[in-house]
Amino acid sequence: LRKKRIDATDLAQQILAGNKTALSQGITLVESKQEKHFESVKTIINTCLPASGKSIRIGITGVPGVGKSTFIEAFGNYLIDKHEKKVAVLAVDPTSSVSHGSILGDKTRMEELVKQENAFIRPTASGDSLGGVAQKTRESVILCEAAGFDVILIETVGVGQSETLVHSMTDFFLLLKLAGAGDELQGIKRGIMEMADAIVINKADGENLKPARQAQAEFKKALHLYPTKESTWKPLVKMASGLHQKGIDRIWEMLETYFKLTKGNGYFEQLRLEQNKHWLLQTIQDQLKADFYANPKIKQALAEKIEALERQEISPFEAAFDLLQLHKEIS
Ligand code: GDP
Repeated sequence: LRKKRIDATDLAQQILAGNKTALSQGITLVESKQEKHFESVKTIINTCLPASGKSIRIGITGVPGVGKSTFIEAFGNYLIDKHEKKVAVLAVDPTSSVSHGSILGDKTRMEELVKQENAFIRPTASGDSLGGVAQKTRESVILCEAAGFDVILIETVGVGQSETLVHSMTDFFLLLKLAGAGDELQGIKRGIMEMADAIVINKADGENLKPARQAQAEFKKALHLYPTKESTWKPLVKMASGLHQKGIDRIWEMLETYFKLTKGNGYFEQLRLEQNKHWLLQTIQDQLKADFYANPKIKQALAEKIEALERQEISPFEAAFDLLQLHKEIS
């Protein structure tokens, strides 16, 4: 990227040929905030788009320490070794954009998977807002697919709103949980349970095995209370041990069953279409907002309106309409 000019068409061709270095560079461009890169990004995305969409996209979430990276390492290696898949791992980390100290990025993670020719692991995207990070992740998915990766794992930490964002860009949503003493369901957000297509009780090994079985039974009972999903898929509760590579094959079997069902009943395609619509609208919304607040005339007028509001000379609605009117006039 330090070269004077990046030939975007060239880079896109290399991505399409499956070159991982080019893929990395492409994603770095996608993540760039510099306006001079925007044209290149457009070229790369447009060239890659026709070759994208053919993977399965799986969201994986769970609190820090639940064993996400260990699980993804085991799962990724399994898919590559046993099923000849090409696996890309992307991460959406809500903390990295705020504090720069990220939950997902600061460890040496997935040491074995990293070495695999057929794996691509991208450290956490960073950005000013979670929405921005998510948008870049979505574009990165397109580049990974164009490079021939057929399973995309998108990891996120189970805090904040990042799950909703990851859910809105994946076909299947996997929630990792730990068995613990007491009420298994405590502290779990209802929204996340509703999003989950499967719950995996992780670290089901050694002394954990018995509590894991109990947790499995409790979660199964709890999931019964939720309405049937549009996909007609009934969320399952599985046990696994990422560390000892146990239960991984059954999780893959479950995914195969899911994709057979949803590709058969049309839900897979319908969901992708809905997600595309969502991202179209989201992009417009983000762009309009950014344009609005970046405009120097708006900035000044906004400051004045806020002062007027503080002096109680104007209502918030009046102020907002005046500013929107001004924006219409100047744009
Ligand atoms: P993450 O923060 O969710 O990515 O969790 P990590 O994968 O980094 O794991 C956190 C800790 O749990 C590490 O010390 C792992 O060795 C341990 N761990 C991860 N998976 C398992 C498992 O399946 N069984 C057991 N017993 N420990 C595990």
